[in-house]
Amino acid sequence: MSVPLMKNYINGEWVESNSQTIGDVWNPATAEKIAQVAYGTAEDVDKAVKAAKDAYWEWRTTPPLTRARYLFRMKEAFEENFEEIAKVLTTEQGKCIDEARGEVRRMIENVEHATGVTTLMTGYTLEDIAKDIDCMGHRQPLGVFAAIVPYNFPGMVAWWFLPYALVTGNTFIVKPSEQVPMTQTKIFEVLEEVGLPEGVLNMVHGAHDVVNGLLDHPDIEGISFVGSTPTAKYIYQRCGDTGKRVQSLGGAKNIVAVMPDADLEAAMPSMITSFYGCTGQRCLSGSVLVPVGDVGDELIEKFTSAAKAMKVGSGLDEQTGMGPLASAAQKEKVLGYIEKGIEEGADLVMDGRGFTVDEYPNGFFVGPTLFDNVKPDMTIAKEEIFGPVVSVVRAKDLNEAIELINTRGFANAACIYTNDGATAREFKYRVLPSMVGINIGIAAPMSFFPFGGAGNSMFGDTKAHGQEIFNFFTDTKVVIQRWF
Ligand code: NAD
Repeated sequence: MSVPLMKNYINGEWVESNSQTIGDVWNPATAEKIAQVAYGTAEDVDKAVKAAKDAYWEWRTTPPLTRARYLFRMKEAFEENFEEIAKVLTTEQGKCIDEARGEVRRMIENVEHATGVTTLMTGYTLEDIAKDIDCMGHRQPLGVFAAIVPYNFPGMVAWWFLPYALVTGNTFIVKPSEQVPMTQTKIFEVLEEVGLPEGVLNMVHGAHDVVNGLLDHPDIEGISFVGSTPTAKYIYQRCGDTGKRVQSLGGAKNIVAVMPDADLEAAMPSMITSFYGCTGQRCLSGSVLVPVGDVGDELIEKFTSAAKAMKVGSGLDEQTGMGPLASAAQKEKVLGYIEKGIEEGADLVMDGRGFTVDEYPNGFFVGPTLFDNVKPDMTIAKEEIFGPVVSVVRAKDLNEAIELINTRGFANAACIYTNDGATAREFKYRVLPSMVGINIGIAAPMSFFPFGGAGNSMFGDTKAHGQEIFNFFTDTKVVIQRWF
């Protein structure tokens, strides 16, 4: 059966790459091939950069409020096509349809937040910095920016950056993950209704060659990257070499601490979604569960019974609580970590290996898995697994839990369940991860707050969205003036 070939979007047109390297796109629930994508070349990148550069001056001189009006139209177009975008997302990525809807909602929220440009992009002035001399700082766009994004959020992640880049007057190129190119393609099709000027927004599909083409291109001012830590580090270093602005968000090993005074019944729904939501393939997935003091046995009993009650199946089924992993390769990787946990002596309490779903015998499923008595130096307590595998590391007190969190190297997110305010305060004060949940699981900051971690989870200093992102996409030009 023939499947569609994803095209690039350059200068307002759908164009084919002339690359000979073609990748396949799979439905993770059925293991059927559903599309193909050409792995673009530096030549494709060059065409997109030229289009974006040519469009820049006119876009840059368009009043911010007029630029924001395009975003209002984007919001309307996305609302009208909301369900269709979510369905494409689930079909190629595997996550539950409700999670896909949540992702599209977060994408739209970034568009909404960016429309505040007329207050969020203002500079500042001071009269009389010396006798008869005034000073003003204007925030100006810089030119062409690009985003390189991962497979776990095929819709939203590019939109952590894109609306802010455009509304501040820059032009833009998106490089989706080659594993999941269909969602962003669908989004760009919807965007055609908005009538953005040609070249303002472009998309080039592909893998390493497109990434390197973007990193090395002299006409690109800055890169927003989200993906695994080794790639994030590589992007950060190479942007340093080529003198670009860069914000580079990496992987995670998030820890959920549970105090003996926590309300386990109330905590369970958010705890279960923290670990098994998106099949553990979130940078904000819980990975290590830390019962503190004597709460361990009761916690594990409640947690495993809630996990077993969750329906595992196709993400398109509204009843499904956990979908498949996104690819056969990711399934193999996760199974490898389960073997490693057994080999290193952890107790496998819930085993997701060999898990099958009757209607989808070929899907990339791994069932909910939990190891107890994991030691801090075991591989499954240190490396990002990115799957539905929980490692329980028991801690004697809060200090030990915090010590565990602060020695993982990653510092993306952490959370605590407790009924004690002083304990919660001490936790949020001392942990290194920069996204902290209190009685809410591993929660994602909304578009008007910054998103990003510390340590090996983020390279650079300006995080995704929030108010800070207006700094990333602008330069403050300081004018000092005197009139005779
Ligand atoms: P990845 O690093 O493999 O790929 C990310 C992007 O980089 C893709 O577009 C890919 O084409 C490109 N790429 C990969 N390797 C490259 C290389 N050697 N040279 C040039 N380009 C390369 O990440 P992934 O597997 O797609 O995504 C999962 C990872 O992303 C996880 O580690 C997850 O924690 C992380 N993530 C982090 C955040 C965050 O906010 N910190 C959010 C989502 C995902």
